[in-house]
Amino acid sequence: MKHVAHWIAGEPASVAGSRTAQLCDPATGQTGGTVELASTAEVEAAVAAAKAAFPAWRDASLMKRTQILFRFRELMDRHRDELAALISAEHGKVHADALGEVARGLEVVEFACGIPHLLKGGFSENVSTRVDSYAIRQPLGVVAGITPFNFPAMVPMWMYPVAIACGNTFILKPSEKDPSASLLMASLWKRAGLPDGVFNVVQGDKEAVDRLLEHPDVRAVSFVGSTPIARYVYETGTAHGKRVQALGGAKNHMLVLPDADLDLVADAAVSAGFGSAGERCMAISVVLAVDPVGDELVDKIVSRVQRLTVGPGDDPASEMGPLVTGEHRDKVASYLDLGVEEGAKLVVDGRSTPVLGGTAAADTPGFWLGPTVLDHVPAGSRVHREEIFGPVLSIVRVSSYEEGLELINTGEYGNGTAIFTNDGGAARRFQNEVEVGMVGINVPIPVPMAFYSFGGWKASLFGDTHVHGAEGVHFYTRGKVVTSRWLDPSHGGVNLGFPTNK
Ligand code: NAD
Repeated sequence: MKHVAHWIAGEPASVAGSRTAQLCDPATGQTGGTVELASTAEVEAAVAAAKAAFPAWRDASLMKRTQILFRFRELMDRHRDELAALISAEHGKVHADALGEVARGLEVVEFACGIPHLLKGGFSENVSTRVDSYAIRQPLGVVAGITPFNFPAMVPMWMYPVAIACGNTFILKPSEKDPSASLLMASLWKRAGLPDGVFNVVQGDKEAVDRLLEHPDVRAVSFVGSTPIARYVYETGTAHGKRVQALGGAKNHMLVLPDADLDLVADAAVSAGFGSAGERCMAISVVLAVDPVGDELVDKIVSRVQRLTVGPGDDPASEMGPLVTGEHRDKVASYLDLGVEEGAKLVVDGRSTPVLGGTAAADTPGFWLGPTVLDHVPAGSRVHREEIFGPVLSIVRVSSYEEGLELINTGEYGNGTAIFTNDGGAARRFQNEVEVGMVGINVPIPVPMAFYSFGGWKASLFGDTHVHGAEGVHFYTRGKVVTSRWLDPSHGGVNLGFPTNK
């Protein structure tokens, strides 16, 4: 049985008698260990360590920071497999998918290696006679990241490489459902030469989050998770004077125009709907099929779904693993009956999907639900509108581009979306008219590269700053403008007038 604790001031930290939560193997449902849940005292210790480390880290040269980032990048690369195995064991996703999230996270580390360039300010000579002005950006101090279960490595890596590269010290509060990746990353930072206290991990739940949100020494909070908690984190953090970016839930639609290549569309819909068992904030969960392609497209989707292999994440034959917890699986599965009650047609029922050729998902120990397809889902129904966050793909039939666009734009969320078409004009119109933060044109999961910024609109983001890329650098720094002159006889004399240019 493993026991997962905190990482404070450069070393593991455990508190005897603290509250714990169980860690389960989603593939078997068996308890595999426990994770400590921090009380206020552990959060205080982490904040104190991060605060103590800040002055020296802020003043560490850009080249020193970059060298540590490069070493961290190399160590993470060497430990990819180990990290992916930890993720897969606690989250349930298949190993190849876990490797994919590590790779996408590493791209942000690689982006952050360019921090000397990213932090370059502006300089204006002679804004007044022999007076210069320049802009610099400085780190905030102690910043925190609160992250969800579905990407235990990548989502923290959206945050901490940029925050640390900018000269901040960081406290990560990972999901209590899959906390182990955080400790491996912490130990690799140490081996890379990061000074103690610059990167800390506090395991926990609401108690730890609330203390971080209220703590006067925490200057900024990055959050990724569900919309109700994102809203709460944004409102509480900003009420305590912090800078907050809080990314929330999603319901991503794929609009399929009649001229699209339906084989490519079906491949994309199945990959984007069922990868990671649909537990991705950029998963496609609704296909809007514009008449008359619905029947043919559904046939193509169904034939592909029936060929998917569902099984444990550590079995190389598995394409899709279990869901993260039994509670979550039950919630997702409840949408199958709800969909039928609302008038949809259940064309593939994931409860009866065999797990690695064995028993049906519903009868197999562990948190299983196979890929599910609901056709003719009524527009505006709960199955259509609500975030299900599991392997359930809804097909909504629409009569036109305009009707499809209207359904996307009137939805609560605005994280990702995609259009599939060979008509450049229609695609151009879509990118202009759709009210969503990340748009794919014949790309089902349009996750921006590290040098752009990731984030949605509407209930998918509280705050105005997306993560990583230039917006990440902006979020973790604040601007300062210096106006300077050096002793010069022409500057002598008292003048009480308002300073104007000379
Ligand atoms: P969650 O909101 O339950 O948890 C996220 C974090 O908040 C965790 O660290 C958790 O410990 C903490 N938390 C949970 N309840 C809390 C409370 N009452 N008070 C304070 N903190 C609390 O989310 P999850 O189930 O871990 O992750 C899935 C959700 O995350 C989905 O809604 C998904 O769409 C979203 N997500 C969004 C993005 C994005 O980029 N927009 C990316 C990944 C996941």
